[in-house]
Amino acid sequence: MAVKPVLTIQDERLYKVSEPVKKFDRDLRDLVRDMFDSMASEGGVGLAAVQIGILKRVLVIDLVEKGFIKGAFINPRVIEASDEMQDGEEGCLSVPGLSAELKRPRWVKIGYQDLSGNEKTVEGEMLLARAFLHEMDHLDGKVFVDQLEPAIHKMLAGDVALIKQGKSIEHPAEPKYRNRKKTA
Ligand SMILES: [Zn+2]
Repeated sequence: MAVKPVLTIQDERLYKVSEPVKKFDRDLRDLVRDMFDSMASEGGVGLAAVQIGILKRVLVIDLVEKGFIKGAFINPRVIEASDEMQDGEEGCLSVPGLSAELKRPRWVKIGYQDLSGNEKTVEGEMLLARAFLHEMDHLDGKVFVDQLEPAIHKMLAGDVALIKQGKSIEHPAEPKYRNRKKTA
């Protein structure tokens, strides 16, 4: 078991675009194992490789407890997304202590490669769709707190600034958004 520290949004690597995986070798399998270990140790349901400092297009998801799937997804891309949107609260292991409402498509179809490099597809709705899209944003250097609706973004700006300075949130702007369960 190799639990790696999860980077927070004060780390500039989280704003970089990750590189495609070309070699489906033992290093990749080791990375995926470390990602599952690190995610589990933080109580998360999704993790992108960049969150443990590896700039490769790899993500893991474990939503078995919510009735969805567990798996590793290499070089994922959105093939199709529903026009219908879902409202939901989102959090991130890289933004500790903060969560907020964010609109996402209700359903997505994802193309990806498995650990052996085989091309596959997977479909997901609701929480699973949200997890895929959240983690895939990480691969493009995007963090959910920068995608919020302007009013919510403004309300949380002070808290986000504190986290970016490596401080914990002591007086959240709005109780609705404080100390919710960590997600991805
Ligand atoms: Zn995240």
